[in-house]
Amino acid sequence: MSNKTVELIAPLSGLFVPIEAVPDPVFSQKMVGDGVSIDPTSNVLQAPAAGKITQLASTFHALTLTTIDGLQILLHIGLDTVMLKGEGFRPLVKEGDTVTVGQPLIEFNESVIAAHGKSSMTEIVIANGDMVASLQPARGFAHAGKTVALTVTLVGDFAAAETTAAPAGNISDAIRVPNPTGLHARPAAVVANTAKTFKSDIKLVRGGEEANAKSVVSIMGLEVQNNDEIQIKATGVDAAEAIKALVELIRSGSGEDCGAAASPTAAPKPVAVPRPAPKAHSEDPNVLLGVSASPGLAVGQIFQVRQEVIEVREAGDNPQLERRRLEDALKEARQQLEGLKAEISDASKAEIFSAHQELLADPELLDLALSAVSAGKSAPFAWKQAFTTYADKLARLKNELLAGRANDIRDIGRRVLRLLTGVKEAALEVPDNAILIAEELTPSDTASLDRNKVLGFATTGGGATSHVAILARSLNIPAICGIEEAVLELANGTNVILDGTKGSLRKNPSEAEIQDIRARQATLAKKRDEELAAAGQAAITTDGVHIEVVANIGGLEDAQQSVTLGGEGVGLLRSEFLYLERTDAPTEEEQTKIYGDIAKALGTERTLVIRTLDVGGDKPLPYLPMPAEENPFLGVRGIRLCLAAPEILRTQVRGILRAAPYSKLHIMFPMIASLEEVREAKKIVAEERAALGVTADVKVGIMVEVPSTAVMSEIFAREVDFFSIGTNDLTQYTLAMDRGHPKLAKQADALHPGVLRLIAMTVKGAHAHGKWVGVCGGIASDPLAVPVLLGIGVDELSVSVPAIPAIKAMVRKLNKAECQKLATEVLQMGTVAEVRARLSGLVD
Ligand code: PEP
Ligand code: MG
Repeated sequence: MSNKTVELIAPLSGLFVPIEAVPDPVFSQKMVGDGVSIDPTSNVLQAPAAGKITQLASTFHALTLTTIDGLQILLHIGLDTVMLKGEGFRPLVKEGDTVTVGQPLIEFNESVIAAHGKSSMTEIVIANGDMVASLQPARGFAHAGKTVALTVTLVGDFAAAETTAAPAGNISDAIRVPNPTGLHARPAAVVANTAKTFKSDIKLVRGGEEANAKSVVSIMGLEVQNNDEIQIKATGVDAAEAIKALVELIRSGSGEDCGAAASPTAAPKPVAVPRPAPKAHSEDPNVLLGVSASPGLAVGQIFQVRQEVIEVREAGDNPQLERRRLEDALKEARQQLEGLKAEISDASKAEIFSAHQELLADPELLDLALSAVSAGKSAPFAWKQAFTTYADKLARLKNELLAGRANDIRDIGRRVLRLLTGVKEAALEVPDNAILIAEELTPSDTASLDRNKVLGFATTGGGATSHVAILARSLNIPAICGIEEAVLELANGTNVILDGTKGSLRKNPSEAEIQDIRARQATLAKKRDEELAAAGQAAITTDGVHIEVVANIGGLEDAQQSVTLGGEGVGLLRSEFLYLERTDAPTEEEQTKIYGDIAKALGTERTLVIRTLDVGGDKPLPYLPMPAEENPFLGVRGIRLCLAAPEILRTQVRGILRAAPYSKLHIMFPMIASLEEVREAKKIVAEERAALGVTADVKVGIMVEVPSTAVMSEIFAREVDFFSIGTNDLTQYTLAMDRGHPKLAKQADALHPGVLRLIAMTVKGAHAHGKWVGVCGGIASDPLAVPVLLGIGVDELSVSVPAIPAIKAMVRKLNKAECQKLATEVLQMGTVAEVRARLSGLVD
């Protein structure tokens, strides 16, 4: 068998550069394959051989041409030019086109590439190196369409390689996974989401095993642990970028802060995440033990919940019809999840259902189901098999976190299956005072529990990190996971005390025990009733200072509820809630209506502070392209994003201004870091106001969330009407601690003396110019913090809607002069612990 030789013609004129000398390791280390580079003097990329365009990057900076021999030639214009997102590139062909040698493929503008600080050095690389026996790159000067750039000798059996058509992947060096708990669901989702932004086929490789890098399920199934070595394998037009991006991402912890472990020089320190220890067993026959999933006490009666079996028919009708059925059910399931998300006020918990939506689009899961459909199975059968296979696979994993996600897969699986089969969720006839017992509850079950009847629950499966546990905490339902199986034998109606804090369930409690618990619960309920009864009264301190207690809201329903709970207005309308979860921008009319409705619900005697759009970074808008950012919290978010896309801000401002007649309207800008931003945003308001002819008094203020603004508050106060301190962000930026970081949750405390000092500076600066200051971060809803905030001189507390009565009651107990003394004392303290110890004595 003679080896065939193929000559590839230079796609550009310019100087040949050896591939090893390209200043990008992805090419110089031949991660994508072997070849040659050209430093170009021409600007129209030409076909180096006849063939078919098998891939064209959506950013038009690269393509793959497959020759008749099956050789895959990757042509990559410039280095890092994917970042230009197509700017400066004009494709002259499309995917699937057949081209002749020398045919123009892509025209590019060298000055645009240069203006972005990128090199236009262009690579010609063989992506399927397994077909190549040897390769001879040219030297010297290339004449586009004329000079031979690469002489490629194919391996003898090249025809076979062509027919199998599965090119070997280009593979990265080994990467050590720094994540303490390996690639569990969250980092797996980060990796999959990044992988999905590339066209190439991408795999994570560990030992002899591979996982589809675009599939969360598949990645989790690989069970990558801390310090495991993995590689990235990619095949396709953007394989180079994919490998580079994923290697960097995984090295840096895939979105998790892995501390020193992420450093390549750090000594490997294996962190085992074992399955839960064998279940604890109590000596007391009346006590069953599990782990705490959600704190709190509940006294009630057992109610056993069993999951119904959904029967499916194996044989399908025609595959197209079955496929359509599956697609429709998936679509509807996505919409149902959207609805569930909207019902959960805590955004971080609603994310659980966003993760479910992602699972619904998981390529591996869908592939598995669709291939069964193609093989003649019914959609319900195919889907049930697919999700059960994956759930079982995950459940068998040693890593508890990953195994716990099996429940999420079963949850979405059953949701879609019910839609496919028309089997309605059996309406649970839950009695009053129920303590639910189940082997497993799904996140969906948990989110839809009837809080009027269900006092708590215990499951034999799951753990404290499960999504069910997270939801239980957000819904404030005491819960236990991983409880002894004997619990399943308890008869319905058995009296029990569920202690979610300790993770224990006491059967047949004595009357004295029940009375004790009921007494504690009654005291709390009485306090709550008293607070509610007085909710309509103003919050005035014992020495006569009125503190405005207003609400943080996300929409009309919150506004209405805040009024019934005694809210004196709205201190923060998080307007982004109207923008997120949409696929298109809300129109001016839609915004006018919603702001008008909220303003009317409050009335002309109440304040309405509408914060302009606060998205960007980690809160992307689906319809506004935003580049992925390495540090989203330090990126283009809040006012920065609005000033970069001013039409969005202008539209919103017009919508807001039209609400002026219906309440005391205030416009507030988020994430202000500099005076220029305030001036620019104010200019937009002034222009729109003039254009609409709005003459009503509309106040304009800013969020104080960035330390520079707190420090310079006196200067800012000259140019704005009010401040509202966003302690959630102010704390994260002051302490340099991610506000959502699970390990830093305790330390990222807004009662840190450093944060309190910044609040004090803000108040001082504002009052020097007669401006008022509110606090709308989470600290304002914490009764413990109220005395010190009052003492510092805060004028308004904007709190979560349910907290309004309690915060008003707290203010009424306080004496402002005493609070001032307290604040002076606390501001001298050095640690959060000292602050908390001093303040905790003041609340009951
Ligand atoms: C804050 O940062 O404290 C704040 C109220 O804004 P958000 O929580 O919406 O970022
Ligand atoms: Mg904020």
